[in-house]
Amino acid sequence: MPSAPGGPRLLLRRLREIMAEPVGAQDRLDKIVVLIAANMVAEVCSVYVLRGDGVLELFATEGLKREAVHLTTMRAGEGLVGLIASTAEPLALSDAQSHPSFSYKPETGEEIYHGFLGVPLLRAGNTLGVLVVQNRTHRIYTEEEIEALEITAMVLAELVATGELQALAPVETGSALRRPVSQRGVSLSDGVGLGHVVLHEPRVVVKNLIAENIDAELERLEEAIAEVRASIDELIERGDVAHHGEHREVLETFRMFAHDQGWLRRMREAVTSGLTAEAAVERVQSDNRARMLRQTDPYLRERLHDLDDLANRMLHRLVGRDMVAERTSLPDNAILVARSMGPAALLDYDRSRLRGIVLEEGGPTSHIAIVARALGLPAVGEVANATSLADPGDAMIVDGSVGDVQIRPNSDVEAAYAEKARLRARRQEQYRKLRDLPSVTKDDVAIKLQLNAGLLVDLPHLAETGAEGVGLFRTELQFMVAERMPTASEQQALYSAAFAEAGDLPITFRTLDIGGDKILPYMQSIEEENPALGWRAIRIGLDRPGLLRMQLRALLKAAAGRPLKIMFPMIATCDEFIRAKEIVEREKAHLSRHGHVLPSDLELGAMLEVPSLLFQIREICAVADFISVGSNDLMQFLFAIDRENRRVANRFDPLSVPMLRALRLVADEAQKGGCKATVCGEIGGRPLEAMALIALGFRSLSMSPASLGPVKAMLLELNAGQVASLIHEELEHAGSGDSLRPLLTRFAESHGIPI
Ligand code: PEP
Ligand code: MG
Repeated sequence: MPSAPGGPRLLLRRLREIMAEPVGAQDRLDKIVVLIAANMVAEVCSVYVLRGDGVLELFATEGLKREAVHLTTMRAGEGLVGLIASTAEPLALSDAQSHPSFSYKPETGEEIYHGFLGVPLLRAGNTLGVLVVQNRTHRIYTEEEIEALEITAMVLAELVATGELQALAPVETGSALRRPVSQRGVSLSDGVGLGHVVLHEPRVVVKNLIAENIDAELERLEEAIAEVRASIDELIERGDVAHHGEHREVLETFRMFAHDQGWLRRMREAVTSGLTAEAAVERVQSDNRARMLRQTDPYLRERLHDLDDLANRMLHRLVGRDMVAERTSLPDNAILVARSMGPAALLDYDRSRLRGIVLEEGGPTSHIAIVARALGLPAVGEVANATSLADPGDAMIVDGSVGDVQIRPNSDVEAAYAEKARLRARRQEQYRKLRDLPSVTKDDVAIKLQLNAGLLVDLPHLAETGAEGVGLFRTELQFMVAERMPTASEQQALYSAAFAEAGDLPITFRTLDIGGDKILPYMQSIEEENPALGWRAIRIGLDRPGLLRMQLRALLKAAAGRPLKIMFPMIATCDEFIRAKEIVEREKAHLSRHGHVLPSDLELGAMLEVPSLLFQIREICAVADFISVGSNDLMQFLFAIDRENRRVANRFDPLSVPMLRALRLVADEAQKGGCKATVCGEIGGRPLEAMALIALGFRSLSMSPASLGPVKAMLLELNAGQVASLIHEELEHAGSGDSLRPLLTRFAESHGIPI
């Protein structure tokens, strides 16, 4: 059986010489295929390049008919070459023609070949083409030979990526690397943003691939491994990892990988075969990324991501900072692309230059999503492999209205989105015009529209939107963006600043709603089977009253003579509310004893998020000053659907009969009990849902700033009495249909109500 006479080392040395020769791109490629064929003892060696239009084109061959070069093409998935491109995996066959995917291209004259070995040209997880060797015999290619061809393919991928080869293509199609890519994720924050990619954590670009001195490269690799291991050990041992935003678990996983013998062996082998240390790391990382792109299991993908991070750390060590695209000043229209990002990191960027955010992770209720919404930045999450697919500087469009991302869009797509952005801006302008109009329906029903907020950056929206106050101030955001627990005086300072920003407008502060998915990096997290049903919100507040007391005191002091509204999250029984209220009373008495000015008026409310409270609605209305419906959690618990779980989160409609009946009960009983009722969950900010809430009797809604204009535009055209009759009638005599959405949509459309 033939075997590679020179092995990959000699091949790489010869490749380096060819790369340095002052010849044209086609000549260079022709020499390369001859070299590879000889080195691999194969009769044929061919290079196929994946063009921007998704077609694989034969760019060079030794052994097949030369006339076929730049003529033979195939689609991804077509034939063996297409199969390799679409799976991004090597394929070794002793008899190619008996493979079901074999497709015969007569112009190449390849029918006489049996042995077939093809590998993808991979760069940063992207497939740029396919490299093939063929033999007349029924050859069985060894693992070493496959590895050698993969290493060669890496060098070729670099050649493709530099663009030198593109000039050879008869049709101007661009490289696959520059191909437009459209990805669907989930919307985190509404709006359309056009700009250029800025990687939150810039990638290292390896240019020096072929080793001059293998022993020296092995030494460099070992040093980098040792340094990375030491830095991980140091981080873990320092014990204060939480303060650096690194989670201990991630570091422990890193440590495990940094000692993973399989991973280390593959890198060492790659160096021994003739690559530089950094190229060896990238080579193994590239395989890993290709696996990541195919991996659908979220846990395994996460592990591959960890490995990817570790490889990045090593590349930084090996290549040095000068090769890293530095995060200097942000370009004017920056779209931040990251695997994941904390809210604090986002707030570090210059907001005026940001046009959008794209994340590989991050669900709609994640912290970063809430901050993005507060900043009015379009954001899309769960975009698979965004950081691998996009290069810094690439044009990108973020459509937060539907959750789409366009990477390197062609001019038609870009024009369509630019038009969409213009239309939205025009609509926003129209909403601004509504700002000073009284918020009343056509039949003179006044609806109080307030904002949801949580950071100081939210508060300028009060003036911009003409909102009547803050209906939900999520105090946990200050805790979530901080690196350590905010002190009592820091809390008080934030609340005072919020009061100052709001002027005469009221703010309803919600006490800490942590636990569940809202984790504080500096607090010891506890393992819970069902965190959403676990130790969270007011449950923590009542069990550990020290924290709650500190917050209540900060709120009472910050109000200093002004009216204050406080509400408690996740109240499940009347008794919980009464106990929380008692803590407030004690704090009030304490402050008064110490001569502090108390709020001029104090209202205490319960959030209705847990269905059990529906069955104590009369009692809670008797003791609370107001009820605020947290519809996000109420939906979650009423229908038993995890709001973080994409598979089920949207399974049921908030406009379905059960939810509407629950909401009607709250509105009716609150009215009877003389207790004010508000809705502050996401449904209050959607025009059609808001219309239903008004129909049910709610006169106060709190929503994100971007929703206020659309909701106001809706209610200005609404006859509340008419829609109330319709919805009450329907809820009394509901047929078998679950959702009233179609009926309400028809009503809105036939009455010219913008929804
Ligand atoms: C809700 O549950 O509807 C709510 C407003 O609270 P959060 O989204 O912060 O849980
Ligand atoms: Mg909630």
